[in-house]
Amino acid sequence: MLNPIQAVVLTTFKCTAACPECCFECSPDNEKILSYQEIVSFLEQCHKKWNMRRVIWSGGECFLLGEDLKRGIAYAKKLGMYSRCVTNGFWATSEEIAYEKLKELHQLGLEELNLSTGDEHQLYVPQDRILNATIAAAKLNMRVVISIETREKTNVTREKFINDPRYQAEIENTELKKFVSILSAIWVSYHKDTVFEYSENSEDYVEYKGCDSLFESICLTPNRTIVGCCGLSVEHIPEMTIGNFGEDLSEILEKQFHDFLKIWLYVDGPKKILDYVKEWENNIEIPKFMHTCQACAFIYQNKRVQEIINNNFKKCYTEVLERFKAKQTLKNAKII
Ligand code: SF4
Ligand code: SF4
Repeated sequence: MLNPIQAVVLTTFKCTAACPECCFECSPDNEKILSYQEIVSFLEQCHKKWNMRRVIWSGGECFLLGEDLKRGIAYAKKLGMYSRCVTNGFWATSEEIAYEKLKELHQLGLEELNLSTGDEHQLYVPQDRILNATIAAAKLNMRVVISIETREKTNVTREKFINDPRYQAEIENTELKKFVSILSAIWVSYHKDTVFEYSENSEDYVEYKGCDSLFESICLTPNRTIVGCCGLSVEHIPEMTIGNFGEDLSEILEKQFHDFLKIWLYVDGPKKILDYVKEWENNIEIPKFMHTCQACAFIYQNKRVQEIINNNFKKCYTEVLERFKAKQTLKNAKII
């Protein structure tokens, strides 16, 4: 049996930004927010049951929690859990202000900062604030990951970000560089009326890879629900919601071990499952996906795909379960 290794807290669906393609449809008008007591109770269960070492504070905009974020990070540290915050960086109005905020959070237990930026984010939060936060965090020896929305025809790209004169002068050509990574994060739309373009050379961004988020992450949402993976899918795959806040987390998680599709997603990932579907029913149209969770949402939302899986899964059932056991053994032994 696998134990989850990280807690994800979607603290709120409120955000200072309102990116049109936000996967949670967050905005300043969205008032859904978790209380400090709810967060603490969730973390306590995670600690008691699985002795977890990591908590990811996300949202929405987790910095909107203010004092509760500080108290939450300190509480997590007391339980032996280190914290990573995922933020749009709106609060980094100057390098000095960013440094002071982060210094306090770092002392309380924040060890990693993930900053999201790109064309949609920069409608609300200028690039300079991302740089303020990055420089301040790196000066505190914190690891920083900057995720840049990626699709075709965007103004903000990884290359342009790196070539920003301030980035070059204050990060790229300094000792701070070792603390900073910049990722091109595929920016997808779950809305049927939005069609983004992607580079032709990209071929297909989705890897043939099992989804480790399943069984390894457990997520509390501002809807007071528990989601059985990273939480990205919460608004688009109802099946990923596995219980409600207040229920026993072990009992909720246990149910996932009886869900063959989730086991299969963990072992093979959505892309390989869709290859099986195509093999079983050659006429089915399978679109190109830019993100693993988009392919996963397609599997759950497409009735025909569900039918094909239901009619054929027994052909690979035993073999998938064997590979699931093997993956669990390797994970528990920390070999993979
Ligand atoms: S900054 Fe992030 S959470 Fe806020 S609206 Fe944009 S994508 Fe959503
Ligand atoms: S691929 Fe599916 S199971 Fe994995 S994180 Fe994405 S939505 Fe969740």
